[in-house]
Amino acid sequence: MWNASKCDLCGDCLTKCLYVEYDKDRAARDIKALMKGDNAEILGRCVTCCACREYCPTDADPFDLILKMMEKHKSFPIKPEAMGFFSMASSVPNQVIKGKLGKPVLSLCVMEMSLPPDAIGGQMFDGLTIAKGGDYFCYVGYVHAGVETPMAENAQKFIDNIAKLGSEIIFLHDDCYAMVDAKVKDYGIKVPFRYMHILEYMRNYLRDNKSKITKLGKKVAYQRPCASRYTPDKDVFVDEIFDLIGVERPKREYEREKALCCTGAFVKVYPTLAAEVQAKNVDDAIRCGAEALVTLCPMCDRVLRRPTSERGLRKIFVTDLVRMALGEKSV
Ligand code: SF4
Ligand code: SF4
Repeated sequence: MWNASKCDLCGDCLTKCLYVEYDKDRAARDIKALMKGDNAEILGRCVTCCACREYCPTDADPFDLILKMMEKHKSFPIKPEAMGFFSMASSVPNQVIKGKLGKPVLSLCVMEMSLPPDAIGGQMFDGLTIAKGGDYFCYVGYVHAGVETPMAENAQKFIDNIAKLGSEIIFLHDDCYAMVDAKVKDYGIKVPFRYMHILEYMRNYLRDNKSKITKLGKKVAYQRPCASRYTPDKDVFVDEIFDLIGVERPKREYEREKALCCTGAFVKVYPTLAAEVQAKNVDDAIRCGAEALVTLCPMCDRVLRRPTSERGLRKIFVTDLVRMALGEKSV
């Protein structure tokens, strides 16, 4: 949540932004205007990648300020068809496929429609209860519509619906994890269940089943989702998983804190910019010697299918990469 008392107007949030060219003075001017509740140039240029939340060295949460002011000034030119996705998400039919007693629940949110075929299967997920549908949609995606209110208004309902599923939940979608691990603190909501991210779950599975792993010996670039800006600490799970399965994460320009958005956030709003960013991102992955780009978010996976295939770069969903090392998918 935006905390003005933590902001020293250093400007890092906007000078580091990969979608504008700001110097410190311009950045400070915009932040000052937003702090007063005024409009500012950045509101018309922000692509809602959430990265400035992570760039801020004092945890003042400038993206929260930007989002609130975007909503106030109605400045994100979201298209009606993109808004339609969000209203559709909450009405996706629910389905709970019961697993074995004592095993955790895997929540797919409403992301099944964007997953590659058979992305959830095999020994890692055997016996888990699988939950999917509108009741398990966390509303964090609304940040890409330039509004926060739906997220705030539905946060408690989301937590309550998830709580009904069981006492131990694994989240596939980074957005849901951002809600339970970060945003609930802003809203003063208690989380009455144990939870973990799917990366942590897979890391644990690999640690416990080292004898089943065949090292892949691949160089792979990683597509970090926007929602990871809320929970950056889990990047260590990606590193450990890659290490356990014999995958090298080569150094690239646009990774970790400097990762580019997959453009799913703004492809309908700024299509020309989105095509440029996709090209920059995929070309960067190829330049660093990666044989493939690995995605964690099903939405990133869907958006990057075309730009990766056009450039001849293989794209692999993270569960498929791990299942390759477990001998369940062709390498
Ligand atoms: S919000 Fe953070 S990064 Fe931005 S000016 Fe304030 S202290 Fe600096
Ligand atoms: S959310 Fe992303 S695009 Fe918007 S100002 Fe912050 S870093 Fe820039």
